[in-house]
Amino acid sequence: MPQAVIMPTPNQPLELRDYAMPEIEIGAVLLKTLGSEVCGTDVHLWHGRLAGVPYPIIPGHVSVGTIAETGGEVRDVDGRVLAEGDIVTFLDVYGSCGRCWYCTVAKATTRCPQRKVYGITLPADEGLLGGWADYIYLRPGVQVISLPESLPWKTFLAAGCGIPTALHAVSLGEIQFGDTVLVQGSGPVGLNAAILAQLRGAGQVIVIGAPARRLETATLLGADAVLDISMLDEQERREAVLSLTHGRGADVTIEATGVAAAVPEGMRLTRDAGRYIVVGQYTNAGEATFNPHLHLNQKHLDIRGCWGSDTSHFYRAVQVLARYHHQFAWRDMISGHYHLHEAQQALEDVAAQKVVKALILPSSPSS
Ligand SMILES: [Zn+2]
Ligand SMILES: [Zn+2]
Repeated sequence: MPQAVIMPTPNQPLELRDYAMPEIEIGAVLLKTLGSEVCGTDVHLWHGRLAGVPYPIIPGHVSVGTIAETGGEVRDVDGRVLAEGDIVTFLDVYGSCGRCWYCTVAKATTRCPQRKVYGITLPADEGLLGGWADYIYLRPGVQVISLPESLPWKTFLAAGCGIPTALHAVSLGEIQFGDTVLVQGSGPVGLNAAILAQLRGAGQVIVIGAPARRLETATLLGADAVLDISMLDEQERREAVLSLTHGRGADVTIEATGVAAAVPEGMRLTRDAGRYIVVGQYTNAGEATFNPHLHLNQKHLDIRGCWGSDTSHFYRAVQVLARYHHQFAWRDMISGHYHLHEAQQALEDVAAQKVVKALILPSSPSS
């Protein structure tokens, strides 16, 4: 009998629940889970910091599995017919309608009011709709992306949901060859942004973050300079960035911190007429103040908000990983493996930043 981890309500211990094997509708896919990631969003879910979550839920929004069964002929995003045993991932966002104003006119499907997210906004009572489970039920219409043979599935999970998110932000950043890119935050989104900035031709990548262990990872992944926010105050950080940029500031800054005060700081650390992408304020971290004359208008700053990702970001992230995983050690980001019954520990370790990336592995806890 398949088991799944249940998050009953915020701040309560996780539980295991038995499920019956689901009936497969036409167009649906049953995945046998290979692994699912634990990310900062799962910690936010546990702390009750996301609005509109239909607890109890099965957490786990970025996952990999093998096809166990399909309801008739089902195709991946490339149009290839899926077969039993294929190793695939899927876009966690499901049900964007393709008909509403946001989907069709604004072409901003991440703002579609119909969208649901596996592991976040689908209730556990409706089935195996999250990744921390032996099996995952992909409803008809879920976008399935096959992993290329050259891409080990654990490497994909190591990059996790941080990579499509960072890919979206870095794309919005429109980095030019030789630009100095400043990344605020050294969690999975920030680390992936530091890698993708290099792939977009950055001349220099600076990462501001903490703790030291994550900054060491940033350096291993190619960051040219790292600034430890626990050692340097805001004035010292500013002096360090200015000294690395001929007194101008970064050409493009990507905020991936989740701390509201980081936003006005990032505006000041970006050069005049530079670009600032805010991707880290995924949950409501409160207010921040800035001087609209000095730090926006006169500065001629281009600020872009970036929320969530769509199939294109997910698909492109898979292709980038397949091509570049020998060059950038995404796999080294994994520092914890947990079985389903250890999910509570995984959550607490991620919350305490003891690990950069934790994986829930239903069938092989020690591999
Ligand atoms: Zn829509
Ligand atoms: Zn995530």
